Amino acid sequence: MQSYIGLGSNLDNPELQLDTALAALDDIHDTSLVKYSSFYRSIPLGPSDQPDFINAVALLDTHLTAAQLLSQSQLVENRQGRVRDGQRWGPRILDLDILLYGDQVIDEPGLTVPHPGIRHRNFVLMPLLELAPDLEIPGLGRADELLDAVGCAGITKLNLAMSG
Ligand code: ATP
Ligand code: MG
Ligand code: MG
Repeated sequence: MQSYIGLGSNLDNPELQLDTALAALDDIHDTSLVKYSSFYRSIPLGPSDQPDFINAVALLDTHLTAAQLLSQSQLVENRQGRVRDGQRWGPRILDLDILLYGDQVIDEPGLTVPHPGIRHRNFVLMPLLELAPDLEIPGLGRADELLDAVGCAGITKLNLAMSG
């Protein structure tokens, strides 16, 4: 199954956190990293008294179920030191969200796919479109049309790629 993962960080050297996370995603069993987008700098969603985020999207090829992939992603978040303090959209070392899992629509407690934030977030749609310009999001339509509706305010594409 092909699955797109959204990565975000705004603490403790975010670019390095994303580099480390990309390697960790590739290390998940029965899973490999196919490709990943450029890194983007974005202004924070929610509380604005926090650093800008660095965001990217990765494409994985996996034999895991979506639920297994979520729990493995949460292990990666935890290993990199993410602390869950209950503040929604607060600062974090690493956020890994399952954006898409094939073309499946999943609505379970603790797992909603496509990720409900996709349609509102240019920092997800821009890197996603970089990897898949013709992408259709199940139930939502073409990703490029969603980005047209959201616009490109508050986001900058960086010229940095994975350093190691
Ligand atoms: P948002 O989901 O709006 O981007 P967030 O990423 O900060 O917010 P988290 O604290 O990382 O939220 O996750 C909260 C819960 O969201 C997780 O415990 C997880 O069970 C649930 N969740 C539901 N659907 C997904 C998904 N597609 N990917 C990742 N987590 C999900
Ligand atoms: Mg998130
Ligand atoms: Mg999350």
